[in-house]
Amino acid sequence: MAGAGPAPRGSPGGRRRLRDDGVRTATSAEQTKVEDLVQEVFDACKTNHRIPPFILQREKHFHYLKRGLRQLTEAYECLDASRPWLCYWILHSLELLDEPIPHSVASDVCQFLSRCQSPQGGFGGGPGQHPHLAPTYAAVNALCIIGTEEAFGVIDRKKLLQYLRSLKQPDGSFLMHVGGEVDVRSAYCAASVASLTNILTPALFAGTAEWIARCQNWEGGIGGVPGMEAHGGYTFCGVAALVILKQEHLLNLRSLLHWVTSRQMRFEGGFQGRCNKLVDGCYSFWQAGLLPLLHRALHAKGDPALSMTHWMFDQSALQEYILLCCQCPAGGLLDKPGNRPRTPCTTSPRRRWCGR
Ligand SMILES: [Zn+2]
Repeated sequence: MAGAGPAPRGSPGGRRRLRDDGVRTATSAEQTKVEDLVQEVFDACKTNHRIPPFILQREKHFHYLKRGLRQLTEAYECLDASRPWLCYWILHSLELLDEPIPHSVASDVCQFLSRCQSPQGGFGGGPGQHPHLAPTYAAVNALCIIGTEEAFGVIDRKKLLQYLRSLKQPDGSFLMHVGGEVDVRSAYCAASVASLTNILTPALFAGTAEWIARCQNWEGGIGGVPGMEAHGGYTFCGVAALVILKQEHLLNLRSLLHWVTSRQMRFEGGFQGRCNKLVDGCYSFWQAGLLPLLHRALHAKGDPALSMTHWMFDQSALQEYILLCCQCPAGGLLDKPGNRPRTPCTTSPRRRWCGR
């Protein structure tokens, strides 16, 4: 099933490495270490002609995902409050790989997620857990991927609407859960599930778009709340929520474009989440996924700088980084060479992004 891709360029030798101008700091040392690891991967690829590594190992990823739907190792215990996320990540990945989900598996997932649904509306991180917007997003999206009558029938839309109303704040933002924190994730999770279940009303989201726009800071990206540092995960959530609410024009799109394109690492080819951080595979989603949304918004504005032939970042460099540096030989993806495979950094209640 592995499909051959274009030949690797052999080494990112043409790309510039970090120059610390003779001032070595903890972060410059870490950055140099990662660049050395990436260089090693490219050098190995150049000298080893027996195995073409520049392919997506579809078969291995498929088996890794299929196994995960039935059984996970102890390493995943820490995600006990994020179990709908595991369903969503795996189903979404299988969908992207064009792998059909067997009917019996889909039905088991529906039954499991229905046990995660709270009597107050919304979904918890596991059966009997308090409802929270992050697992609610994961559960509703997973059920929509399954897309059967049984799956849609799980969602109590009336209670879901009540739950969303209970989290809405006077300034337009949403709490992540009753008694919990406010940040851009909640606005996105709420907009996504409301849109998918057709309960999105102007009253429910009054003031939300304006509140999200206030989270865009001087850097150009979006922080968790107004005044916070811009971050890839929050920026994706904020922009995606505004796209759902059809209010993306409220952002300074040029400054956002400048921020996100500057997050692609010039040597590694992957993205970082924030300024002065290390490359991390998860931002291939949060940052690179932002660019088509931004492209669409700039197109709607008739921006003359818009490319009509490609997304506005180096797609080949990102592809090289993911295929060469992030694929685990046993299936699954790594955030960077030398690390273990992992689930994507998440909007989960306990682990706020990956902290990178
Ligand atoms: Zn990450």
